Amino acid sequence: MHKDERAIDVAVIGAGPSGLMIANLLGLYGVRADVFEAGAELIDFPRGVGMDDETCRTFQAAGLVDAVLAHVVPNQLLVFVDHKQRDLARIAPPPAGFGWPRRNGFVQPLADRVLLDGLARFDTVRMHWSTRVTGLTQDPAGVELTVAGPDGERTVRASYAVGADGGSSATRKALGLGFAGASADADWFVIDVRNDPLGRPGAYVCADPRRPYVSISIPHGIRRFEFMLNPGETEEQVMTDEFVTRLLRPLVPPAAKVDTIRRRVYRHHSRMAESFRSGRVLLAGDAAHVMPVWQGQGYNSGIRDALNLSWKLAMVVRGLAGEQLLETYESERREHVRAMIQLSTWVGRLVSVRSRAGAAVRNGFFRAISAVPRAKSYIVTMRFKPMPTMTRGALTRVGSPGDASPVGRLFIQPTVRTRQSPSIRLDDALGPWFALLAWNNDPREILDDDARRRLARLGARLVAVRPAGQLAARPAEGADDDPATGDPAVGDVDGSLQRWFEAHATSVLLLRPDRIVGGASPAYAASEMVRGFDLAAGAPSPEFGPARTEPVA
Ligand SMILES: Cc1cc2nc3c(=O)[nH]c(=O)nc-3n(C[C@H](O)[C@H](O)[C@H](O)COP(=O)(O)OP(=O)(O)OC[C@H]3O[C@@H](n4cnc5c(N)ncnc54)[C@H](O)[C@@H]3O)c2cc1C
Repeated sequence: MHKDERAIDVAVIGAGPSGLMIANLLGLYGVRADVFEAGAELIDFPRGVGMDDETCRTFQAAGLVDAVLAHVVPNQLLVFVDHKQRDLARIAPPPAGFGWPRRNGFVQPLADRVLLDGLARFDTVRMHWSTRVTGLTQDPAGVELTVAGPDGERTVRASYAVGADGGSSATRKALGLGFAGASADADWFVIDVRNDPLGRPGAYVCADPRRPYVSISIPHGIRRFEFMLNPGETEEQVMTDEFVTRLLRPLVPPAAKVDTIRRRVYRHHSRMAESFRSGRVLLAGDAAHVMPVWQGQGYNSGIRDALNLSWKLAMVVRGLAGEQLLETYESERREHVRAMIQLSTWVGRLVSVRSRAGAAVRNGFFRAISAVPRAKSYIVTMRFKPMPTMTRGALTRVGSPGDASPVGRLFIQPTVRTRQSPSIRLDDALGPWFALLAWNNDPREILDDDARRRLARLGARLVAVRPAGQLAARPAEGADDDPATGDPAVGDVDGSLQRWFEAHATSVLLLRPDRIVGGASPAYAASEMVRGFDLAAGAPSPEFGPARTEPVA
């Protein structure tokens, strides 16, 4: 067995969407990452079919959103119907302000391919196919992986490892972490077809007590059907053409051509790892949590993990933060994941009611709440979806007390103007790393020397935010683009930034790379807020020890 001598900052185990997104973001942040994938290629069958606005925003952060939009149906309508096809709930949410539609249909293998292709942009990222991680040990200085690949077995050393190796994660097992929760008591049968015989857009969930099913239009002429299996229906039996034709009969006439891509029996699980971290090894995606598909949040939760974890790993390996920053991955993600599992499990129970009496009660309940405008709006606008709301983590709350604090929440993403670009999404104007935003002030003028040094060390952009018209002011009258750093002044085109700042008792924000508000304060307390964030993120010392200086792409 030989040793691989290349210095690896982060070993990523598994090239599913979670591992691939982590590798892309690490590449973007200038981190040396190696991805080890047991398979010879990407898993190519459709799995996830729902992409939310937060995931679109993460693809945007990774520089891959245009490529993935080629495989997305934006604003997909979701309709729950009863056995007579009468509406129970119709969910067509308006944009939530994060820059992307809230519900979208997509084809997972094609989105995974976009992520894989994205890795080619980074010299610091290497992909190892047909290479299974078979063992893992760690010591205070790093992690040693045993990998079995085309050239036999070898050991690889990395500073940190991320187990993104799916629901049956060998990494989780090697760490001895439990995976508590429950598994559903019925199987579901997934049939993906091409040349969609129905062709209608939208996602339909039919809560028929005789056999609940799902019918979803996804891009490129693909349709996903999912049928609940009855007790006694075996995998062998349901895979036959006769059974499939019988299942589809109420939806597609037997004479119609059905071009099946894949048939697959699977079971829903609601489980979460005992911990998402053990020392230098972290878990992400299905390795850390699995949930029923009813909110389409398995995939999206893995992407949320990837975004939350990647910048923290980058900070730690680049010497910008102490290892304690990694503790915040769990404290920031765990409760949100738990809420998503609970919601997904609850919706699954409602859809899967098998008695007629139970279904009648459920249907009556939905009709009753649909008659109450506020309750109906709560459902239609998806306000039931738990949004990331972090109370403990890499956050500081100087000068913004109370529940209304924006700290720990996602910042909005309007389209803005800069002096270089008449129309640009806010995140693109800010760049992929930290940004300090100040409404109606030039941040350089309101920060003290120490805060400016800390932000420079962090690599944060300093961004003045103003009504867009004011960008026309001559530099001498309102100079706020920074010619030295290229940090832009941002113009608020439609008033949404002004409204946001009016609604909060803060005018200066420190936005993290995941676009969570990491700190917020009035202008007079901005320097204190920056110091508070440094402390919360575990900055090594105010004296500024050596940090690696690769630029963030
Ligand atoms: C039928 C179905 C429908 C679904 N529908 C939805 C949906 O609508 N919306 C949604 O959000 N989610 C959905 N999901 C869930 C979604 O597909 C998963 O949550 C997502 O793929 C998880 O991504 P991941 O990267 O965490 O893990 P995976 O995609 O499972 O990737 C793990 C990777 O790790 C590799 N690996 C495993 N062990 C090792 C090892 N020891 N060494 C190296 N590599 C290893 C595997 O080969 C695999 O490539 C669905 C899943 C299924 C099965």
